[in-house]
Amino acid sequence: MENCIFCKIIRGEIPSWKVYEDEHTLAFLDINPVARYHTIVIPKTHHENIFDIPPAVFSHVCTTVKHLADLYQEKLGLTDLQIRHNAGANAQQDVFHLHMHIVPRSADDGIDILHIPHPEWRETFDDLLKKLL
Ligand code: AMP
Ligand code: ZN
Repeated sequence: MENCIFCKIIRGEIPSWKVYEDEHTLAFLDINPVARYHTIVIPKTHHENIFDIPPAVFSHVCTTVKHLADLYQEKLGLTDLQIRHNAGANAQQDVFHLHMHIVPRSADDGIDILHIPHPEWRETFDDLLKKLL
């Protein structure tokens, strides 16, 4: 993809702070980190997000995420992290080349992700499941 920023990183056309690379994937530090070692993991082939990536390619991405979690645990003593994939504009995806965020977390890091639970929706669960049949 000519104008994709992550494809440009893969081709070496723009700089990145690479933390890991193998045949199928690349990982680099997020240029606007929300935590130390905030890392982006991408496949080397262009896919927008979870919806169009072949399962085998997604599996390579997940394997690299696991490798880096283990690496950060071993080298940095990291014990807490969040893994996030945004798919689609309404899910706050900004770069449309599939990527996983690895966000290390620690006590009092100031990050607070707000999720509002709706227990009253339990009464709709039976109907929701019917749509999957
Ligand atoms: P998302 O909102 O899930 O699409 O996340 C895109 C992420 O890519 C953001 O956290 C950006 O800071 C990051 N990003 C954008 N351009 C670059 C770049 N050139 N190098 C590293 N990270 C980038
Ligand atoms: Zn791309």
